[in-house]
Amino acid sequence: MKNIQVAIDGPGGAGKSTMAKALAKACGLNYVDTGAMYRTVGLAALRAGADPLDGEEVPKLLPHMHLGVRYIGGEQRMFLWDEDVTDCIRTPEVSAAASAVSAMPPVRAYLLRTQQDLAEECSVVMDGRDIGTVVLPRAGLKIFLTATAEERARRRFLELQERGTPQPYEQVLREMNERDERDTKRAAAPLRPAEDAVLLDTTAMTEAEVLEKLMQLVKERWGE
Ligand code: C5P
Repeated sequence: MKNIQVAIDGPGGAGKSTMAKALAKACGLNYVDTGAMYRTVGLAALRAGADPLDGEEVPKLLPHMHLGVRYIGGEQRMFLWDEDVTDCIRTPEVSAAASAVSAMPPVRAYLLRTQQDLAEECSVVMDGRDIGTVVLPRAGLKIFLTATAEERARRRFLELQERGTPQPYEQVLREMNERDERDTKRAAAPLRPAEDAVLLDTTAMTEAEVLEKLMQLVKERWGE
């Protein structure tokens, strides 16, 4: 059976995870959320009382972290030891910690193998910041999803509201811009489109329209 790899990268709030999940479901592929892995490292650092910006301290924690990725009912769940932390990693505090630890090369090296192994084992739609450029440079289809900062902040604002952890829009926008700036400017695997990525600006598109476009791209690349 052919091994299908779809890489979806882009800044926060561009709709990567929603669309990657929907595309995976529609095409019968596995969805791999790499941001959740960085978030879990960020959570572990916070829990250990480390400063997530401390590039000396955080890498020292990695061998003791026991980070696990499991697929339960077709859904990715994140574990620290035996604790399912999937629902604990979506707070703004963990978002900021994830962005900080993800700039550290040892953290990236620690997660890279896991990400590449998952894509070897089965066909995937994988989303993140460096999937098309570093993790799966030979992916058959690479998408770079974007939207204006205001639209991305609006979506994140609504998402936080839905989760029952609302935050003022201005704060969401500011934190999102800070995170994007850090993700784009860092030396290790910065956020940027792969040369062969299809750029898709979703600012004025509905989720259904984005999904249709993505499915069309998959069809063009691999057939029905
Ligand atoms: O996508 P998500 O917001 O869950 O990612 C959390 C953080 O993890 C991002 O801000 C980014 O800094 C980092 N990340 C990364 N590389 C990836 C996925 C996420 O650096 N492939």
